[in-house]
Amino acid sequence: MAHQLLETLGLADDPRVVANVASNASVADGVIASMSPTTGEPIAGVRLDNADDYERIVAEAAEAFKQWREVPAPQRGQVVRAIGDALRENLEPLGELVALEVGKIRAEGIGEVQETVDIADFAVGLSRQLHGITMPSERPKHRMYEQWLPVGLVGIITAFNFPNAVWGWNAMLGAVSGDVCVWKPSLMAPLTAIATNAIASKTADAMGHPGIFRLVIGADDVVGERMIADRRFPLISATGSCRMGRHVGQVVAGRLGRTLLELGGNNGIIVEPDADLDLAAKSVVFGSVGTCGQRCTSTRRLIVHESIADQFTDKLVAAYRTITIGDPLEDGVLVGPLINEASVQNFESSIEAAKSQGGEVLVGGERVPASELPERLRGGHFVRPTIVRAGSQNLPIAMEETFAPILYVFSYKTLDEAIEMHNSVDQGLSSAIFSRSLCSGERFTTPSGAGSDCGLVYVNQGTSGAEIGGAFGGEKDTGGGRESGSDAWKAYMRRQTVTVNFGDEFALAQGIRFE
Ligand code: NAD
Repeated sequence: MAHQLLETLGLADDPRVVANVASNASVADGVIASMSPTTGEPIAGVRLDNADDYERIVAEAAEAFKQWREVPAPQRGQVVRAIGDALRENLEPLGELVALEVGKIRAEGIGEVQETVDIADFAVGLSRQLHGITMPSERPKHRMYEQWLPVGLVGIITAFNFPNAVWGWNAMLGAVSGDVCVWKPSLMAPLTAIATNAIASKTADAMGHPGIFRLVIGADDVVGERMIADRRFPLISATGSCRMGRHVGQVVAGRLGRTLLELGGNNGIIVEPDADLDLAAKSVVFGSVGTCGQRCTSTRRLIVHESIADQFTDKLVAAYRTITIGDPLEDGVLVGPLINEASVQNFESSIEAAKSQGGEVLVGGERVPASELPERLRGGHFVRPTIVRAGSQNLPIAMEETFAPILYVFSYKTLDEAIEMHNSVDQGLSSAIFSRSLCSGERFTTPSGAGSDCGLVYVNQGTSGAEIGGAFGGEKDTGGGRESGSDAWKAYMRRQTVTVNFGDEFALAQGIRFE
């Protein structure tokens, strides 16, 4: 299947891709192996860019920007429309490549590419709406207005777990804004990046706009550090862990550049006693085990009213026992593998920590033994989705984001107490409450800010599965960035206030006379 997918997506002929590669090929060799997390075998090798390649790619991108910014925004929108169509045509093979390379199930891989198609559609509409406002000037015969201009080069750094859509969110808005995007993908998902970028750049080339989507693939200390320190990038949009974001944020701020940071989450769901428990259970299970717990919006903490805590937890445990784990490309499988062995070890050490801190493992809690897997999956990184009961006690490990399917269940007495528990973590990405009470929903979303402290808040809907129309992102250690919908496009443009004197008087503001 891998070979056929690489052929279909044109990767077999891509000069960056090496068909036969040793699984231990390393950065020092200039080639890395993209490993299947499902089998532990290499899918293909990828040649890395070095410092000279980086310099050439960025210099060419800067030249391309000079042409691209002159193209009227609605025409830029037409290029993005064609890219959306090309992605539609490749929805299935590209979605399958995502599934193959990062281990999410086929439906989620295809859904991820659909998200890029959706943002392309959204960006096409925006290309006719990148408007500024006109303000009344206090000076006679003066006109004052603002306009939005391209920022220039945008450096896009992406995490492994959304190897297509995170680029799409940034690149589609960046492109209609008139920017040239240079993408530095995760070394855990380089094939998806090569295939995705090739679709976009071939489409743009064919329409007479070469070089506006660029890819630079390399080690963090070779290309990553260069990119974040490079003053030719007025904007660095970085998605990944809080640890990475803290470093990138400091380096870019050190040169007074702008960042758009989309970092880790530690998302909670509050379940009130009057909630529709069937609806809540479906949302909790999807949120906590979907993508094997490797979404930034995965549900990691459940805060349940003490009167229904046992009943609701039993329901979840029963549902967890029915989940099929296996090859993410097979029908009926709901949970694929973690990305690599280091993630499995991280999962195991978090469970050990939870137990030593007083947590009780109700289901899961271990890797899937090789004896339970078919022969060809024995090198894969499979774990059992896990529920840990914390009850009413503290569980310090639950304050951290472990990128794995572990759900910690807490109980509470009052809604105020639940909200305080909910907001007690460092991250502030996604949050949800299940309740039939209007007052509880409003309490959690109150405009005073005394409810959820997250960037995303849901009522009777789980924490994961955002739509394109809304601005996506989070507060606190999640980094404060907003992408995708609403007015997120403003991050990719610079605002200019223009004042025109169409009279012949020398007029100063604030009534100042200087004669
Ligand atoms: P990671 O932080 O290990 O890597 C993310 C990206 O940053 C990679 O491309 C990596 O190469 C790059 N990077 C790391 N150090 C760098 C440096 N010094 N200079 C330049 N680039 C550098 O994250 P990951 O394991 O790939 O992804 C998982 C994390 O991403 C989780 O914490 C998850 O919550 C987060 N995430 C957040 C969002 C969001 O929108 N908030 C979306 C997806 C993933």
